[in-house]
Amino acid sequence: MFKAFLLKYAEIGVKGKNRYMFEDALVNRVKIALEKIDGAFEVSKVSGRIYATANEEFDYDEAVNALTKVFGIVGICPLVQIEDEGFDDLADKVIDYLDKTYPDKNFTFKVNARRARKNYPLSSPEINMELGERILNAFDTVKVDVHHPDIMVNVEIREQINIYTKVIKGAGGMPTGTAGKAMLLLSGGIDSPVAGYMIAKRGVVLEATYFHAPPYTSERAKQKVIDLAKQVAKYSGPIKLNIVNFTDPQLYIYETCPHEELTIIMRRYMMRIAEHFAKESGCLGLITGESIGQVASQTMQSLNATNEVCTLPVYRPVIAFDKQDIIDISCKIDTYETSILPFEDCCTIFVAKHPVTKPNVNVIRNSEEKLGEKMKELVDKAIETVEVVWCE
Ligand code: ATP
Ligand code: MG
Repeated sequence: MFKAFLLKYAEIGVKGKNRYMFEDALVNRVKIALEKIDGAFEVSKVSGRIYATANEEFDYDEAVNALTKVFGIVGICPLVQIEDEGFDDLADKVIDYLDKTYPDKNFTFKVNARRARKNYPLSSPEINMELGERILNAFDTVKVDVHHPDIMVNVEIREQINIYTKVIKGAGGMPTGTAGKAMLLLSGGIDSPVAGYMIAKRGVVLEATYFHAPPYTSERAKQKVIDLAKQVAKYSGPIKLNIVNFTDPQLYIYETCPHEELTIIMRRYMMRIAEHFAKESGCLGLITGESIGQVASQTMQSLNATNEVCTLPVYRPVIAFDKQDIIDISCKIDTYETSILPFEDCCTIFVAKHPVTKPNVNVIRNSEEKLGEKMKELVDKAIETVEVVWCE
């Protein structure tokens, strides 16, 4: 029944002179999303609206699923498209469509006509009146409600005529690629994939860095992170994942520094190394899944100590979220089931029984100084031996 989609967008509609850039980016993202499914689509921009029109048979559910992952779209409207064969024909087809789509006729409705082609013989208000009458006559249990209708019967008169009543909720946000790039510190946990998703939603391209510690962490733990990156990539587009072997630096910190400071020192080195890759590839910020007070390394004092080694801005989109709020998003974007798989991540192996919760930055700096030249070499080696996996 549906041959096309009208794609509604919100914020990018108000971007002034840059509007076309955002629209073109969105058209592009829609094309990429639809390329992956069966069926060829034409994606076009027509007077401030974006249409995806099928040129052949396609899988409706697959198409909707792909479109709900495109940032920048707020509403996906499946369209019935008909040729203009006069008003009587239009009314018959609208009635037929409503009949098939809403088997129980217990709804209120309003007709919302939009005459984009001005040579159509009826004006928009006339179409609203006349079509409303015909629908009322066709089904005796339906009613008009102009304020809060159950069903908005949208009729757009263009070269062809579009009819739609459904608006499927889109992903929102801004089209990918309209806001630069950032480096996500991606672990196998629940929080960081959500953090990456949230920043990507604002149009930011993601790159990611994962620290593992073989043989203390397993291949399965690494695969889990790759799987998480692939899942986030369904929304954000392909993610270049840097996998850093952090075993030697971590063992050396373990041997050299007071155990209650391990986590903080480790995290500072993670930030430094991630920032190295970030700068190398033109990222404008780092992203973490930190949330105030969640664990010892995420108190305000700990965050302050970790943040101190970064020169790029660190984006922490879940900083004020409760765990349950983060879990809700991870369920929505389908990372939760993977995140809760029980494979150890590198931080959980080298944790102290009683980590400092209020680290003093000067004390931490002193401990790091004891690591000396050798630490530099280990870090350089970790950077040189990075393994890159493209996740899409
Ligand atoms: P997550 O659920 O994201 O793993 P968490 O609650 O386990 O977070 P921490 O382990 O303290 O919290 O990590 C805080 C943040 O540091 C993570 O959200 C992530 O951005 C980053 N991070 C932690 N471990 C790693 C790792 N092994 N590789 C890359 N980034 C990491
Ligand atoms: Mg973690």
